[in-house]
Amino acid sequence: MNRERSEKLFTQAQRYLPGGVSSPVRAFKAVGGNPLFIRKGAGSKIYDEDGNQFIDYVCSWGPLILGHCHPKIVAALKKVVEQGISFGAPTELETTLAKAICTAMPSIEMLRFVSSGTEAAMSAIRLARAFTARDKVVKFAGGYHGHSDGLLARAGSGVATLGIPDSAGVPSNYTQNTLVTPYNNTEAVEQLFKRYPGQIAAIIVEPMAANMGVVPPQPGFLKRLRRLTEEFGALLIFDEVITGFRVAYGGAQALYGITPDLTCLGKIIGGGLPVGAYGGRKDIMQMIAPLGSVYQAGTLSGNPLAMTAGISTLKILSQPEVYNQLEARSSLLEKGIAAIAAKAGVVVQVPRVGSALTVFFCQESVLNYEVAKRADTKLYSKFFQQLLSGGIYWPPSQFEAAFVSLTHTTEDIQTTVEAIGKALKSAL
Ligand SMILES: *Cc1c(COP(=O)(O)O)cnc(C)c1O
Repeated sequence: MNRERSEKLFTQAQRYLPGGVSSPVRAFKAVGGNPLFIRKGAGSKIYDEDGNQFIDYVCSWGPLILGHCHPKIVAALKKVVEQGISFGAPTELETTLAKAICTAMPSIEMLRFVSSGTEAAMSAIRLARAFTARDKVVKFAGGYHGHSDGLLARAGSGVATLGIPDSAGVPSNYTQNTLVTPYNNTEAVEQLFKRYPGQIAAIIVEPMAANMGVVPPQPGFLKRLRRLTEEFGALLIFDEVITGFRVAYGGAQALYGITPDLTCLGKIIGGGLPVGAYGGRKDIMQMIAPLGSVYQAGTLSGNPLAMTAGISTLKILSQPEVYNQLEARSSLLEKGIAAIAAKAGVVVQVPRVGSALTVFFCQESVLNYEVAKRADTKLYSKFFQQLLSGGIYWPPSQFEAAFVSLTHTTEDIQTTVEAIGKALKSAL
């Protein structure tokens, strides 16, 4: 596979961009080798600067559930861009997207748009602290809620990939109110509530963890979190930046039947443009400025292009059969991987919820971050490189989710499973 142009562009990029990238995991540090520079995407495929074609399972890290360049999204964006790119004033588009989200997720009575998932989680925490007049926040090890200072404690994802326990540059007193506890363990959470009575403002949780690789919640886990927060007067914040409109139209809260107080969104609701949102109970949301005393603002928040891509995406996702189709393709992929791994004599775990899955090179089923970290990342790297050479763009880290889009065909899945079979054999 010719990678000449990508190599050249990477050399140039490193002159001006730290590590040659705008976000760390893109640099392929966890799997070795240099990143490919992407020129274009179409449906389930991406094409690099050397003209190589790949079936894409990164899908921009989640937003592109409709695949690349969906004609309806492209057409809607073309139309709206002619009318103005940004105003910093209200537009009807914000209400339209907000209404679609509130309808899909009834726990969200009101919401505020921001420009990233990081901002959504950071702001939801600020709001929860204001509402409860408490300072402490519980998060789970391996849970990623963006890179705001207070939430960069054992944050999984890119942080896990680089093996940085916590980021440098975060003063310890910024995270002293962040209590980190193992995922899928409710007893430890209960102990925290008992140890810090009247001090915990909220639990923030990925209702299906996806930033330590996909780790589904154990039966009863989320329900118990809901009970405990109610009992101890704290708020339950679902970080659905990945799961929202991914695992079901109504997100993980619909899938698992749990009503959080606040929800963080991003990724899919922006259809590939930079977006985030946080929302929930009206009595809580009314504390945000200009109605209330919690300050939070953004020059490009509610940007017309981002709103348009979001509206068009949700419109397509709200059609019947969409999630059944995603489920069918994703299940085919999961089963195909399990079967071909067994045939190759490689032990893998393939946890999957809807169209998000991870291939863990791990002997035991992955319950939490401690177990995830025991996965064989060296083997994963070889697997990744083999797949890449075989035309499959798989996540460049053991601790990320692979995503199936609506444009991944049965043929794409079959090609992928065959490539995975080969990759497993040569990775051993
Ligand atoms: C991606 C992600 C974020 C951060 O979103 P950005 O838009 O990258 O800032 C937060 N929480 C979860 C669960 C995510 O997957």
